[in-house]
Amino acid sequence: MKRVFSGVQPTGNIHIGNYLGALKQFVELQEENECIYCIVDMHSITVPQDPKELRKNTLDVAALYLAVGVDPSKSIVFVQSDVPGHSELSWVLTCNSYTGELSRMTQFKDKSKGKESAPTGLFTYPILMAADILLYDTDIVPVGNDQKQHIELCRDIAIRINNKYKKTFVVPDGRFLKAGARIMALDDPEKKMSKSAENIHSRISLLDEPSKIKKSIMRATTDSEGSIRFDPENKPGITNLLNIYSVFSGKDISEIEKDYDGRGYGDFKKDLVEVTVDALTPIKERFNEIRNSEELIKTLKDGAERAGVIAERTMKRVKDNFGLGI
Ligand code: ATP
Ligand code: MG
Repeated sequence: MKRVFSGVQPTGNIHIGNYLGALKQFVELQEENECIYCIVDMHSITVPQDPKELRKNTLDVAALYLAVGVDPSKSIVFVQSDVPGHSELSWVLTCNSYTGELSRMTQFKDKSKGKESAPTGLFTYPILMAADILLYDTDIVPVGNDQKQHIELCRDIAIRINNKYKKTFVVPDGRFLKAGARIMALDDPEKKMSKSAENIHSRISLLDEPSKIKKSIMRATTDSEGSIRFDPENKPGITNLLNIYSVFSGKDISEIEKDYDGRGYGDFKKDLVEVTVDALTPIKERFNEIRNSEELIKTLKDGAERAGVIAERTMKRVKDNFGLGI
């Protein structure tokens, strides 16, 4: 049995990119693996957060995990800051990583662009992410394509420490889906869909109302050619919409292209609204049942306890191998 770990930040509403790139894999993997799914609240404070909002968002993401099908009887679900090992291990890894390799991270470059000085946490974020993964002796990390570089860094740090000290860490592999690994922003198909983008019509959140979903899809950027064809290079907008259509409907892209042969973007977009609303409605219904239940808090407390046992075991090994403590 393999160990699986992944996390999502509790910042804003989870969007279909998060769902199709990461959460969908969480559900598939829990059948045959030992899965640990975290709400990474300490990552979200790399940018300023309102404390009340942050706690609300943390519970929202936890409820969404369960609403999409993560099953707490099969998987551990918990909040990152409830297990102290994450920040403890993060420091040890910080001392074994280099400013040069962190400076190459494209996410840091994107998120700090135009700022004279960026929060240190934004810079060292990939180290905390490496700690999240290594703390649980993780074999597989299901994430979207945008995290490839961070997973690579995590592997480099683990290998570096294993070579320098006694073998301390399992070296993990990323797991990326073919179709959903990189859902692009609806208003700009050159950028990935993101929670932190300003324009709400750049994304579809899992809890969006049907009227908002309609608006966002109908105004999505396309091109002037008029044919519905998969062509990432020349038709990134339509290609992105085809991808979304395909994963939500279960139909192959080629089948969809055939269905819309000779038809206009308006027709295609209208149907995509329907396919998307149909896929998201049951998730939203389950979310509403779970969000304010006692069960949710119980799941997170129980999850933190179980995760904490594994984390403590790893930290003991790390401290022994580094000569820390007595
Ligand atoms: P932010 O812009 O604040 O970083 P985010 O949308 O990137 O938000 P995260 O919490 O950082 O969300 O990422 C959660 C998971 O969703 C990660 O596995 C990430 O790779 C995946 N993910 C994020 N955006 C996309 C996307 N557009 N397509 C596919 N997967 C994505
Ligand atoms: Mg992100």
